[in-house]
Amino acid sequence: MYKKFSEGMIEVITGPMFSGKSEELLKRIRILEYANIKTLVIKPNFDTRFSENEIISRSGAKISTHSVSSADEIRELFKKKNYKAVAIDEVHFFNKDVLTLINELADDGIRVIVSGLDLDYLRRPFGIMPYLLSMAETITKLQAVCVRCKNAASTSFRKVNSRNLKMLGDIEEYEARCRSCHIKGEFTKMQEVTKMEEAKKNVD
Ligand SMILES: [Zn+2]
Repeated sequence: MYKKFSEGMIEVITGPMFSGKSEELLKRIRILEYANIKTLVIKPNFDTRFSENEIISRSGAKISTHSVSSADEIRELFKKKNYKAVAIDEVHFFNKDVLTLINELADDGIRVIVSGLDLDYLRRPFGIMPYLLSMAETITKLQAVCVRCKNAASTSFRKVNSRNLKMLGDIEEYEARCRSCHIKGEFTKMQEVTKMEEAKKNVD
């Protein structure tokens, strides 16, 4: 997969939920392991959906990780050992400080591989992801399968009514949808909200 390991570079794995991003990241970490490239593995500390100190893909593949909340914590961990690569899962949850860190690491010859959602549940570019995608040398954009029409899905549709951007979830809260089915779903939700509001007005 890799022609050269010695150069610093940024690689981004992106796509909607249920597209296998963590799986893809784990695959890359394993390839680095086989090549004896010492890799620091990171995930945001509030993402404890599957495990606190492991990245576990939906297929069950796992690898131990450091759970952190900031770029400074990553920087401190990186200093402790002679790491040659850094892998970050769910990178969209970090703030802009992580962009500076990732750039610094890549400039210093470190291979940085990150995975994260490109769009939020309303199909808006997610946080730092547009910057990361611009900075990256290589990008892998994955697709899921739309649960409605079974075409390629590039968006994560939120099934429950919550406006919290950082709401974590799994198949109960989200599903993969194509553009067209996502738009239809949001329209239906809006209609439901309007109906509820009107019903409330009638009661009042
Ligand atoms: Zn669809």
